[in-house]
Amino acid sequence: MPTDTAASMYRFFGPSGFLSQWHPQFEHRPDQLRMAKAVEAAIRERRHLLVEAGTGTGKTLAYLVPALLSGKRVVISTGTKNLQEQLFYKDLPLLRESWPQPLRVSVMKGRNNYLCRSKLHGASELAILDGLEEVREFEQIQQWESTTQTGDRAEVQGLAEDSRVWPKLDARADRCTGQRCSHFEGCFLTNMHRLARESDVIIVNHHLLFADLAVKDTDFGAIIPDYSVLVLDEAHEVEDVAGQYFGLSVSNLQVQELARDTRMLLRMLRRKDPQTDQALHLLDDASGAFFQKFSGPDGRVGGTVLPSLREGAAAAYADLLLALSLVGSGLQTRADGVADFAPLFRRAQTLHETLRTWMEDPGADQVHWVERRGRGVTLQSCPVDVSALLREKLFGAVETVIMTSATLAVGDSFDFIQNRLGVDAPVTLRVDGHFDYPRQAILYTPTGLPDPRSPQYAEVAMELLEELLAYTQGRAFLLFTSHQQMRAFHAGLRQRLPYPTLLQGSAPKHQLLTEFKETPHAVLFATSAFWQGVDVPGDQLSCVVVDKLPFAAPNDPVVSARVQRINSGGGDAFREYQVPQAAIALKQGFGRLIRSSKDRGVLAILDRRIRTMSYGRTFLESLPPYSQTTHLQDVAEFLRG
Ligand code: SF4
Repeated sequence: MPTDTAASMYRFFGPSGFLSQWHPQFEHRPDQLRMAKAVEAAIRERRHLLVEAGTGTGKTLAYLVPALLSGKRVVISTGTKNLQEQLFYKDLPLLRESWPQPLRVSVMKGRNNYLCRSKLHGASELAILDGLEEVREFEQIQQWESTTQTGDRAEVQGLAEDSRVWPKLDARADRCTGQRCSHFEGCFLTNMHRLARESDVIIVNHHLLFADLAVKDTDFGAIIPDYSVLVLDEAHEVEDVAGQYFGLSVSNLQVQELARDTRMLLRMLRRKDPQTDQALHLLDDASGAFFQKFSGPDGRVGGTVLPSLREGAAAAYADLLLALSLVGSGLQTRADGVADFAPLFRRAQTLHETLRTWMEDPGADQVHWVERRGRGVTLQSCPVDVSALLREKLFGAVETVIMTSATLAVGDSFDFIQNRLGVDAPVTLRVDGHFDYPRQAILYTPTGLPDPRSPQYAEVAMELLEELLAYTQGRAFLLFTSHQQMRAFHAGLRQRLPYPTLLQGSAPKHQLLTEFKETPHAVLFATSAFWQGVDVPGDQLSCVVVDKLPFAAPNDPVVSARVQRINSGGGDAFREYQVPQAAIALKQGFGRLIRSSKDRGVLAILDRRIRTMSYGRTFLESLPPYSQTTHLQDVAEFLRG
């Protein structure tokens, strides 16, 4: 087995290397070898590394192999739980079969992915289920519990994403009594932590990683065992996820859940407690009155509107704080005798503290806003700039951080991501991947369209789409920068197109994707939800159209605060933040088309600014080397070729 030099990577990834013997579909990929060498060197030299690896590089193995060989504890963080599972169940078994030593690898997810045995066993006595469907699901989980080793919900066959039973049984901290729980020894979380401590490689997701970083130095302690090397896959998502965990969030639903769980526990223990009942009524009323002051149409509200909203809610706020204190002190008294009340007391305390900070102590480095969605009203905040926090808590604390994604660079430069994340002087590498882009894809940028912000734009763009889709025979993703535009184009084109159309929001995302894959010539109308993590290899997807350059909405409170921060520091936010951010988003969206070396098709952007404005070059230079044209006839010819 090779040891610690760059030559060892050649012995794995070279044309006759180990992988050529182990991997059934092995192809020698020079870019994969380059990336593996860079990862190996970064780990050995204790440096941070940024690698943009185009689709088809084989980047997972390019970081897994040097990570496994390093002899250090490595944490790999993926963008989603699905990618965690793919890594663990698809990529690792291949190495596991041939690797000469046993591989000690484990997966850690957020608490709500695991079953709480205490809730499950307590639940059979409780009337927590509603209807036959829930009873059936409960019984399925009950049966599975006696056989599962992990307690991870991903193992429950056919459990719906939006299952109503699972949240009643999961291992969230809301009712966990930790070591005082009678199931502690057999608890799936205890088991997950034990396995992680014994592992050389731990696979997490960004949410768990940043939840861990945010609480590491607090009384709650670390979640993930200490590690020397971190691989951040899908690293372009890091700024947003980190922001969520270094910020605050308090919602009307959290307050309602506290009241509901307290009542449920009292019922379960058959306690009569008029005082707490009264405090809970007060809490219901005060919470309703307070959050009502922030309600309104769905979306985000922040900026200059917030001071008047806060002022208008001042009286209701005082009542809500008082109600939370009353409920909290009742729970604290009870927690001395019955351990189950302790987590509820902690929740009341946290809600009280978070609410107080959001209302009274905004902090100059934080951006605050109200998020409204359906019945939920959430008061939120996050740091305007996470770079200082990451510099201290991540890059200053971990020996090597490898950041990789198919979309990190803007043109050839990594300055944008470096500045946003606060990583100083990393090693950088950009590899295009294994695809023949000029032969596989043509980028069509029509210049004759009106400006996308003008009223004439929609009709002319729809006419053009009719023509374009006739050449590709449907088989297209039409990706829009707003829901409004998506609905308008769908309404306008549905009858005019001779192809089946699908609209985002008309069914769950995974169902729409399956339908798209199974419906010949389908055309999907969607927004940013389909810009990443979507994979449709083959002819079924032959065209990806983006309506406008995907600049983030400038009136979004977080975007607007970041823009202001850069401009007031003497920078140029448009050039340094908005254009690079949009260039990376466009590269992500277009990345849906070419997923394998057999894929071929058309990319179109219906925004003439990519050709007419000087910043358009940044977009074009950031994309892979597709063929390019401004003429529809060239597209037709390309498709015939
Ligand atoms: S320790 Fe906590 S999560 Fe584990 S079974 Fe007990 S209550 Fe549930």
